[in-house]
Amino acid sequence: MDLIFATHNSHKLGEIQELVADSGIRLRSLTDIGCADEIEETGTTFEANASIKSRYVFEQFGLNCFADDSGLVVDALHGEPGIYSARYSGSRDPKVNLDLVLERMQGQTNRTARFVSVISLVFDGKSYLFRGEVEGTLATECSGLEGFGYDPIFIPNGYAYTFAEMSLVEKNRISHRSKALTQLFQFLKSRT
Ligand code: IMP
Repeated sequence: MDLIFATHNSHKLGEIQELVADSGIRLRSLTDIGCADEIEETGTTFEANASIKSRYVFEQFGLNCFADDSGLVVDALHGEPGIYSARYSGSRDPKVNLDLVLERMQGQTNRTARFVSVISLVFDGKSYLFRGEVEGTLATECSGLEGFGYDPIFIPNGYAYTFAEMSLVEKNRISHRSKALTQLFQFLKSRT
């Protein structure tokens, strides 16, 4: 089955490709279908933003597709950066955004946070939502070189090291995105 993943984020695509490896799904990115458009995320929730992206691709190309909207939700920052994770500081530079979170968390004793991933699927014209979360705490400084975004400061519960210190396979066992994707794949299996 061909399925479009509505993203320009090569890290996300790489993570997902590892997960679909033996599912019979042929994943194609926006680049693969010749879509260079930057789809504006004007929603106020992960659900709304994911849906904007998947509906846009379905309306333009008429292909079954899904989009994810994800981010880091920090309790002591009242849910920020949340849906603004990719551009929290106003810049799209991941290191600048991470540094802003660390700065705003200085002196904070409550360091609980979670990654959230919401997938919106448009399948045969109908929309479906799937949500995955992983709970953790924020470190006070960066550790590790793997992954992307806020991985160097996120320590998932039950672990003593950050997402950026994990291999992709280890991160995918517990990540927010893989939890949402597992639900997506189960749904697709029930339809084929
Ligand atoms: P989106 O492309 O609008 O979904 O933005 C997601 C942003 O949330 C990314 O640019 C990262 O800053 C952050 N994010 C989402 N998932 C992860 C992850 O698995 N690791 C680290 N940062 C993430």
